[in-house]
Amino acid sequence: MSNSIFLQKDLIEVFAKAKNVFVFTGAGASKESGLPTFREIDGEWKRFDPMTFATMEGFVHDPVLVWNMYRSRQKQIAQAQPNPGHITLACMESFYSDFLLVTQNVDDLHERAGSEKMVKIHGDAWQMRCLECSGIFDVRDQDFPEEFVMETLPKCPNCGGFCRPNIVWFGEYLCAETLCLATHHASICDLMIIVGTSGEVSNGYGFAEFACDNGAKIVEINPTEGLLTEYADFWVAEPAGEALPRIWGEVLSYEF
Ligand SMILES: [Zn+2]
Repeated sequence: MSNSIFLQKDLIEVFAKAKNVFVFTGAGASKESGLPTFREIDGEWKRFDPMTFATMEGFVHDPVLVWNMYRSRQKQIAQAQPNPGHITLACMESFYSDFLLVTQNVDDLHERAGSEKMVKIHGDAWQMRCLECSGIFDVRDQDFPEEFVMETLPKCPNCGGFCRPNIVWFGEYLCAETLCLATHHASICDLMIIVGTSGEVSNGYGFAEFACDNGAKIVEINPTEGLLTEYADFWVAEPAGEALPRIWGEVLSYEF
């Protein structure tokens, strides 16, 4: 691919002149904060069988095992810190008249970096959902046991029902309202920034095609080529934590 070779001033101009920005982030953004990814060749799905840990069938078969895996994931997230890529994206949102960050990550590093105009299309590792009343509850401050056993599994504070992690598992649909909102913003953006995702899941193609149809410039920031790279006008082959602060520093000093 030749789009990793471009003029830096052209890239900066695209950022500086954009008005409506759509950002799409994936596991690569959190990997720089030390959170393991799931889909890479050496990713967590090699250690944790997705049929066991990321399907409703697996959960019904052994909810204790699944809840304990998500509990350990929460502990990893709690120890991780937002990196300069997260922080730069949070700084960007007030610069543009329209901005939406759509993340596939279930951690809270974007929020902790200060992002507010954002949605999480794969759910949230800090939430549980009641299978009886469909209530969604934040578990961040819950006094959960170190290890769950069947008797201590999370119960719904409303109805006492059985709860599952509020994560979109394999074979499940994304939340229609969230997807609709994300698609709308992709279709009106004039700059789409793809960060740390190969784009193989979560309607990545759809977002990129809507953005292209609107004539948006597409910037991909990812050390490795992914499925969305073919859409990119600019492919910055670096980790976001290095590339984004550098680009943003130049954007802020851009003279119109
Ligand atoms: Zn309930």
